[in-house]
Amino acid sequence: MEKLLEVENLSVSYFTYAGEVQSVRGISFDVKKGKTTALVGESGCGKSVTAKSLIGLIEKPGKVKPESKIIYQGKELTGYTEKEWNTFRGKECSMVFQDALVSLNPTMKVGKQIAENLKNHESSLSKEEIYQKSLEMLKQTGVPDPEGCMNKYPHELSGGMRQRVMIACAMVTHPQLLIADEPTTALDVTIQAQIIALMEELQEKLGMSIIIITHDLGVVADMADEIIVMYAGEIVERGTARDIFYHQQHPYTWALLQSVPRIDDEDKTILNTIEGNIPDMIYPPKGCSFCTRCPYAMKICEEEKPKVTHITDEHSVACWLMDPRADRSGVPFGRTDA
Ligand code: SF4
Repeated sequence: MEKLLEVENLSVSYFTYAGEVQSVRGISFDVKKGKTTALVGESGCGKSVTAKSLIGLIEKPGKVKPESKIIYQGKELTGYTEKEWNTFRGKECSMVFQDALVSLNPTMKVGKQIAENLKNHESSLSKEEIYQKSLEMLKQTGVPDPEGCMNKYPHELSGGMRQRVMIACAMVTHPQLLIADEPTTALDVTIQAQIIALMEELQEKLGMSIIIITHDLGVVADMADEIIVMYAGEIVERGTARDIFYHQQHPYTWALLQSVPRIDDEDKTILNTIEGNIPDMIYPPKGCSFCTRCPYAMKICEEEKPKVTHITDEHSVACWLMDPRADRSGVPFGRTDA
């Protein structure tokens, strides 16, 4: 399948007075055309920093390290100037954030905000064409009374409606890639489902690729074609939604799944949490980063980084439990049957 974006050995650090915070440490993945890739992990795992680096939004004291490669449609982006990133953002790629109230301009009417994005990238359009295209985009997001909504300020809309407006702002230029950073976290469950359905519907109509960032595996269960699980700035497991939900092999993925609420499991009345904290990223552990929180940690886990094992072309995992010498008895996952 054709790749839209290839990320190779991406490393991003923040150079603070306390030392170099290694937020993202040598990750590689790709995004296929018209498909959805989910970056999943708890806060501080590097997923949002990864997303920002893909659209040139890493600010000082942050730095994308020189060994990193971000290749979009065959073009290397890491050496882009600010001007080139500005053209890239909006035209090729747009981002939707968690809190629409913060991201939208509170003093500007909705219609004007959508139009601004279009104006910046389609200077040849007339005023009327810009209005019509903005309105058409807003209609596609399913906002009731779109004409009326164009004349409203963000604070006059509900949280779900504001999120739809933000999606309209992001999609009005028909970018090839939409990055959605926790797009439903601030919303209640019913509205969450509607926003996810809207993104899927727009993807089908417009054919864009989506990178969705979330701490909640439940949000991407139906939507993601590929799920990348991140921990402490690294990829610990990646696979199709089926691989991750039914054949997960990494203890961290298993722990994340245990913390997803299930309405089909009446016996589960208490949500599991993952004990402990992520490691200090100024001094990341020498071996496996999950070592201090992993109930199956072995001696080698502290000493050496686990190698990546490819279970199939699509499913890979970085864990010493995949080594044939490891004792997997008592490990509650580890099914490799289909
Ligand atoms: Fe646990 Fe070791 Fe696997 Fe890390 S490598 S997740 S510590 S078993």
